[in-house]
Amino acid sequence: MKGVLAVVSGFSGVGKGTVVEYMRGIHPFTLSISATTRKPRPMDQEGVTYYFLSREDFAKKVEEGFFLEWAQYTTDCYGTPKGPVLDAIERGEDVILEIEAQGARQIKERYPDAVLIFVLPPDFYELKARLEGRQTETPERIKARLSRAMEEFDEIPYYDYIVVNNTVEQCAADILSRIESKRSTPAWQQEFISRLKSEADKVMEEL
Ligand code: 5GP
Repeated sequence: MKGVLAVVSGFSGVGKGTVVEYMRGIHPFTLSISATTRKPRPMDQEGVTYYFLSREDFAKKVEEGFFLEWAQYTTDCYGTPKGPVLDAIERGEDVILEIEAQGARQIKERYPDAVLIFVLPPDFYELKARLEGRQTETPERIKARLSRAMEEFDEIPYYDYIVVNNTVEQCAADILSRIESKRSTPAWQQEFISRLKSEADKVMEEL
């Protein structure tokens, strides 16, 4: 059975990174590592949090069809390398893409089976406070990220589910249950159902 491709998006600062990290401790996932043109932050590690590329190298990879999806977010570009994601799904591993809304739409168009989840904060003031608390962002960048969040409200209806991040534990459990629901659909379990049906035919013959 192939793995589930899950997209987790949310306003910048909503805490989705923390939730995804927590989820990895309770469910085996392949977490896609994106490429970006943005400058590394102090906590970033090349090849762990992102692959950091120059604008020229990023553009070259777009041309080569290297990305499953890519988008410009504020002033920088972000993209999901295609190979590792498709390989993991074929191996039966669930994959999480922590990406923004334009990329999520591209994924849904190309992979209608993907589960798209949007994480919301309990209130917008907390979101602003969280961005300010990061201390790695200038006031201009905070404003840009909040303005982007305003635009992203319009993208929410394209997602399959919304999940509110009240606590990391509850938010992770909610996301996991949406992924599990996908695995429980008849379409996903076709192989298992066919096997069961063949067994049923045999059992009936033997009666
Ligand atoms: P940050 O700069 O805070 O790490 O990420 C900014 C935004 O880019 C976040 O909303 C994050 O989810 C999104 N992002 C990260 N990687 C990708 C990617 O590969 N593709 C797209 N479309 N968005 C990404």
